[in-house]
Amino acid sequence: MKTVSDYIRTIVDFPHEGIMFRDVTTLFADPRGFRIAVDQMLHPYAGLEIDKVVGLEARGFILGGAIAHQLSVGFVPIRKKGKLPGATISEAYTLEYGEAIVEVHDDAIKAGEKILLVDDLLATGGTAEAGIKLVERLGGEIVSCAFVIDLPDLGGRARLEAMGMDVHALCA
Ligand code: IMP
Repeated sequence: MKTVSDYIRTIVDFPHEGIMFRDVTTLFADPRGFRIAVDQMLHPYAGLEIDKVVGLEARGFILGGAIAHQLSVGFVPIRKKGKLPGATISEAYTLEYGEAIVEVHDDAIKAGEKILLVDDLLATGGTAEAGIKLVERLGGEIVSCAFVIDLPDLGGRARLEAMGMDVHALCA
């Protein structure tokens, strides 16, 4: 029986030379792969109170939307700068080359709401950390951060755990 990692392919030299890009589109395209990934991501949270799922652009929208639907809670997107139409707050973070900015609508999360943060892959943790900061600035409480893939050598898990975060991933 195939496991989640069996549905993920690696594309060599994307987006540039030397990068081994983990491509989850093959996981999402397979009906069994997508279902077991979403079910397994939900597994640690059985019985826990979660008010909203927050997904990081872009693949976090696909996973986070399915997870929110399954939990019967709302979904909130964290988007790259300039994409959200309403009033936003933003966080800058460092990439391998340069800087990126992510935003969330400033009325998307209410103080005290319990939030599950979702993305496809955890590498350095910079993207997730920016997302966590946005949620916390709005008064949300991160219950946990859920990923399909964790690349532990890049330090993201240690970085999030040092912030006091609970981190779950399905495979490395
Ligand atoms: P980090 O900020 O270094 O942890 O990078 C994680 C972010 O970059 C996530 O939003 C991922 O979707 C994306 N990312 C980085 N590397 C890969 C990859 O190999 N496959 C898919 N997404 C990736």
